Amino acid sequence: MFNNLSDKLDKAFHVLKGHGSITEINVAETLKEVRRALLDADVNFKIAKNFTSTVKEKALGQDVLTTLNPGQLMVKIVKDELTELMGGDSVGINLKGSPTVILMSGLQGSGKTTFSGKLANFLKTKKSKQVLLVGCDVYRPAAINQLKVVGEQVGVEVYAEEGNMNPVEIAQNAIKHAKSTGKNVVIIDTAGRLAVDEEMMKEISNIHKAVEPQETLFVVDSMTGQDAVNTAKAFNDILNFDGVVLTKLDGDTRGGAALSIKSVVNKPIKFIGTGEKMEAIDVFHPDRMAERILG
Ligand code: GDP
Repeated sequence: MFNNLSDKLDKAFHVLKGHGSITEINVAETLKEVRRALLDADVNFKIAKNFTSTVKEKALGQDVLTTLNPGQLMVKIVKDELTELMGGDSVGINLKGSPTVILMSGLQGSGKTTFSGKLANFLKTKKSKQVLLVGCDVYRPAAINQLKVVGEQVGVEVYAEEGNMNPVEIAQNAIKHAKSTGKNVVIIDTAGRLAVDEEMMKEISNIHKAVEPQETLFVVDSMTGQDAVNTAKAFNDILNFDGVVLTKLDGDTRGGAALSIKSVVNKPIKFIGTGEKMEAIDVFHPDRMAERILG
């Protein structure tokens, strides 16, 4: 995970580590390397530039030039700033409401259905919730079947209405069904398309208005870097979602989406997906991720 970024940052600090004393030129060189590492990770130029400016200010403010161990201090400052960049404190999921309605949004292939299963499993096993999964992709029967397979794997009921082409109605009926069967969480998996289009946005927006979810999560493939950030912006403009789920982090060597998305949409990353298995879900902790990136 984010190996390329880790390697490049490690190299950036190489000049400073092992130096008892350093010059402003050493600091400037290191920051240039840090900026280059961020750009290579597919972080946008403005964010990378702001990041290094803030680190520079803090480094000079904390007298990095005269400290005994400048390398360590710089790594700490960068770690703190990476944590801030990824959202600061970890933000949990809102489980208020009876039932709690969680709406999943995102493009086709982002990992929505897989994540819906993972979240159902997480809430069932870690929070002792009775969960109902709902298939609202009325265009692809394969998607409903996939959700059924996932539901079976984690032992969670899947609600679907074969032949009904109205996802708003399905979602509303599912909530009624959840109430009558004692479920306290409803996870609604919706139809995604390969790219952002008006029809998909209209549909998800209609479902959103009709069911008034406690949590709307936007699911995105972390490996798509800046595209992930642009898609997040498009969905957020329509849904004003509550949090981001970054999937496929296990295959992401760069980390650009994780580092940029919070600054662009100002919404927290709540969960990450780290594999295809139902257990490969983690609550996102910006500080732990920064720690991991810097080793
Ligand atoms: P959807 O179209 O958004 O519902 O996406 P799917 O849930 O069908 O996922 C698309 C593909 O990505 C599937 O092959 C999943 O197994 C895979 N996938 C989903 N999440 C992850 C993850 O966190 N890591 C990896 N490596 N693969 C994932």
